[in-house]
Amino acid sequence: MAVILGQPVGPNDQTLRLPAQNVPVWHRTQVLVVGGGAAGLAAAVSAARLGAEVTLLERNGYLGGLATGGLVILLLTMDDGNGNTVIGGLCREVVERLTARGGASAPPLEERFREEPELVERWARKGLCWGKGPHHVRYSVAFDPEELIVLANELVVSSKIRILFHTQAVDSIVEGRSLKGVVVQGRSRRAAIMADVVIDTTGDGDVFSLAGAAHELQRVVPWLWFRMGNVEDEAITTSGPLRIFRTVRHREALVVPWGGALALTKNIDPTDVEELTWAEIACREKIHEVMREHCKTHPGLEKAFISQIAPQLDITESRRLIGRRVLTTDDANTHFPDAIGCTGNWTKYREFYEIPYSCLLVSEFDNLLAAGRCISVNHAVHHATKEIPACFVTGEAAGAAAALAVQQGIAPAFLEVNQLREQLIRQGACLAPPLGPTKGE
Ligand SMILES: Cc1cc2nc3c(=O)[nH]c(=O)nc-3n(C[C@H](O)[C@H](O)[C@H](O)COP(=O)(O)OP(=O)(O)OC[C@H]3O[C@@H](n4cnc5c(N)ncnc54)[C@H](O)[C@@H]3O)c2cc1C
Repeated sequence: MAVILGQPVGPNDQTLRLPAQNVPVWHRTQVLVVGGGAAGLAAAVSAARLGAEVTLLERNGYLGGLATGGLVILLLTMDDGNGNTVIGGLCREVVERLTARGGASAPPLEERFREEPELVERWARKGLCWGKGPHHVRYSVAFDPEELIVLANELVVSSKIRILFHTQAVDSIVEGRSLKGVVVQGRSRRAAIMADVVIDTTGDGDVFSLAGAAHELQRVVPWLWFRMGNVEDEAITTSGPLRIFRTVRHREALVVPWGGALALTKNIDPTDVEELTWAEIACREKIHEVMREHCKTHPGLEKAFISQIAPQLDITESRRLIGRRVLTTDDANTHFPDAIGCTGNWTKYREFYEIPYSCLLVSEFDNLLAAGRCISVNHAVHHATKEIPACFVTGEAAGAAAALAVQQGIAPAFLEVNQLREQLIRQGACLAPPLGPTKGE
């Protein structure tokens, strides 16, 4: 391709004006899901199973986002901390299918919400028990990331979703209150993909940010989770800054480096590539440096080795939508008539959040939804709604909303929420914890 130099704008040549470009329309779709993490997978499958024509874009070459590429291989949590399972739908299907192929491990029904210390300890050793005690066994799930990647591919292929890997959304095409599509950059082309409904499941809110929607940005400490092979049982440690959990694989451990020697001391802006680059290098360097010494003294790690460091940084939070409603801690344990799902709090017992549909709706656009960790909640509530099961829940709801809206020829902002709730119940979702007496009371 010919190189056309940009023209300097202003006296200091710090900005260049590039020639206007014609961008070809690659294709048109009914529902465009941008980002193939837990939320994007759920959104795409949910919409496609309802008959919508779905395109899923993912900038990496695998699905799962942080749940696979970040090695965040613990589904925390599927219950409300009060003995009730509150996560159903696609997340539950995924857990069942992973379990059937030996790729997941969770407390069986008869052990959930029991408080015998040896039971709690058994599941804590897999990373399934967090927060302050007194503890109960919670319904959380440890899983294998490679199995989830394969299962995700199967789900996408069997649902006839058009998936484009190595494709990143880099701009938005806006007309009034409608997001007409996005401009994508692939390896060999820059093109537009047009859609009736767009779902932002990028985790970082790239799409709503590119479109100019209101949001907040959180600076965070970056982490890298990693796995070790050849780990003896005595090495497993469930407290302290360096937690070493058994994975579902023989002699393998997951290392969760909260605080302590493996922590970087600087918060970064997770949308700034220079800061991300610094963090990628610093986190990896630290892991090798610290573990080289740690393995010499930590019982049971003498023959252990680092088998895999997460290929992508673990970023807990970045952009959060300021949508039609912002969920706050005052909304804990509150019933919402427009709830599309619900989640417990992985570090607290007896606290749940029903998630209103309005937390997925982007105020400035009628056909743009957000799902996953970038939905409209405040920083404190994000602690609960960012967890993988909750991301599945909001993704599945956004996908169903998109498909119903397409069927009716309207934008999701105008969808009758009770129709969505009824559809989600048909999909096995739990919209609220069961009322009445619960186990443990
Ligand atoms: C350190 C850490 C520990 C955690 N611990 C747990 C835990 O133990 N249990 C738990 O349940 N949860 C945990 N979480 C939270 C959970 O892992 C994430 O919040 C959740 O996986 C987010 O899912 P998502 O689909 O919203 O986003 P992501 O997983 O971030 O997926 C977003 C996807 O979009 C893609 N993407 C981004 N931008 C673009 C673009 N412009 N174009 C195309 N594709 C794009 C990305 O490549 C990615 O695949 C933890 C998170 C962190 C960081």
